[in-house]
Amino acid sequence: AGQQQEAQRVLDEFREACATPLEKLEKVVDSMVLEMEAGLAAEDGCLLKMLPSFVENLPKGTERGIYYALDLGGTNFRVLRAVFGGPGEGCMQESEIFTIPHDLMVGESDDLFDFIASKLRDFVLRETENKSPPPGRKRELGFTFSFPVMQTSVASGTLIHWSKGFKVAGTVGRDVVEVLREAISRQNLDMEVAALVNDTVGTLAGGRYINGDVMIAVILGTGTNACYVERAEAVPKWKGPPPKSGIHVINTEWGNFGSPTLPTTFADDDLDRESVNPSEHIFEKMMSGMYLGDLVRRVMLRLAKDAGYFGDSIPEKLTKKLALTTPDISKMHADDSPTLEVVGEILKKKLDLDPTRLEERRVVYSIIDIIARRGARLAAAAIVAVLRKIGRDGKSGNGTSKTVIAMDGGLYEHYTKFRDYLNEAFVDLLGEEAAKNVVIELSKDGSGIGAALLAACHSKYV
Ligand code: ADP
Repeated sequence: AGQQQEAQRVLDEFREACATPLEKLEKVVDSMVLEMEAGLAAEDGCLLKMLPSFVENLPKGTERGIYYALDLGGTNFRVLRAVFGGPGEGCMQESEIFTIPHDLMVGESDDLFDFIASKLRDFVLRETENKSPPPGRKRELGFTFSFPVMQTSVASGTLIHWSKGFKVAGTVGRDVVEVLREAISRQNLDMEVAALVNDTVGTLAGGRYINGDVMIAVILGTGTNACYVERAEAVPKWKGPPPKSGIHVINTEWGNFGSPTLPTTFADDDLDRESVNPSEHIFEKMMSGMYLGDLVRRVMLRLAKDAGYFGDSIPEKLTKKLALTTPDISKMHADDSPTLEVVGEILKKKLDLDPTRLEERRVVYSIIDIIARRGARLAAAAIVAVLRKIGRDGKSGNGTSKTVIAMDGGLYEHYTKFRDYLNEAFVDLLGEEAAKNVVIELSKDGSGIGAALLAACHSKYV
């Protein structure tokens, strides 16, 4: 009984520390708006990088012709061909996914890009005649490259560093478009890279094609990020000629947000300290798919240590990073059986906890609920911060125009309770009335088609 009481005490304390009542979320919104403004004013030294994407034109839905996309952002890359039919005609797309062999992820730049370009060439050469571009015209490609890049024009950008397990010699510091172009020409493939695109910007473009009211794109997957359409005058740090379109598409890199207004706990501090990038990406570490499962494990570990919970000695697996993943907690969170059977099964399978008592399973369920709810509400606050920044939160006198947020990512798509909590907090923050004009729409894999569209919008032939 003493043990259960102690566990309850730890849990209550944790719940309190994670609490996100509306007043607190409002403070998160305010501090994020301030950080966005700081990032738009200064080149470095800000939490939010607020990177101009150099995208001059967004799709209108009237695009026509054949364009390609190449999406490199993880262990898989995707090549895609899209045929846009013009006004009201929609588009057709075909794509293929390839896995990058591990030795190429840690090898030489030319080997990696030769591999990619050769797959691209195979894909292109399998096209039938009516799908190839008109004579005298090069094929054009949008290149989605989800690594930190210092963009220098719509079709050039320098790789700052590799991430996500890539460690390829000879690419850092170079223009990745040039690197890809050289590899394409070594394959004797007649193709031009017309746009270099961050995945959020691709998602925005894909969303815009279908719906002209899309102003923001958000990724909630392994990591999190967002971009949005900003007025050109609102970007003081921009030194180039003013864009003809009057807008900038800004990649916020909001995963790196941090603020004393965020409800962090011992679990967040521990996770951060033991991460590959301590004190960076604090916001992302509180709410994205890569981390939510591990936060739950860390609170369970605290219960094992402080309350002697989950057996007489500390379970070995509970001390192992990533023993519990976000899909695991999402499955447990969906368990509505009175005895929490699914929770029990996953605790057994993933952490070797067997058998577990009902009270223990209930406590685990509560931890999951607290962490997922906090993450989802913070995500909602971040979206509202962007809406407020552009005067689209329904409170700034722009109440009647519609605003759409194009959302992509496995976390939002597959984690039902997370999505429900996010949508609930979103409506709470905006108010029922304003929320009628602001909607979040799932835009699955919009970034591939978006990159092809951005190639079309920045084509040298139109
Ligand atoms: P990425 O962000 O890696 O480009 P996705 O957008 O597909 O790719 O997101 C994948 C992430 O989504 C996974 O890392 C995982 O954290 C999360 N995810 C996938 N399936 C689920 C699920 N069933 N429940 C919760 N999260 C999930």
